[in-house]
Amino acid sequence: MQFGKKRLQLYCRDCDLRFSIQSQRRNRRHYFCPLCGESVGVTLHIVKRTVPLTRYKHWTEEEKQKLIHLYNTTNYTSRDMAYIIGRPVKGVQHKLNRLRRLGLIN
Ligand SMILES: [Zn+2]
Repeated sequence: MQFGKKRLQLYCRDCDLRFSIQSQRRNRRHYFCPLCGESVGVTLHIVKRTVPLTRYKHWTEEEKQKLIHLYNTTNYTSRDMAYIIGRPVKGVQHKLNRLRRLGLIN
């Protein structure tokens, strides 16, 4: 199940840089690295939203575990993790700070 727009997660192997963009209506063939401006080294994978966006709700244990798992097993940005979990970016950033303070993540 997918909700809303896709985020495109891109990686430039020349610059070792990860960046992400909202997918465009018209699929472009090449995506350009914001650092080197090249499309040669840029690879793409699509990050899909798996749950609908929820706001102003307390974090469930499940969401917390999912966030910890994503944080430990991927190098997604907080924006990508927010997108996958279905929470506002600010909420995820606050949660990460809290988890860090509690020593649950590094
Ligand atoms: Zn680059």
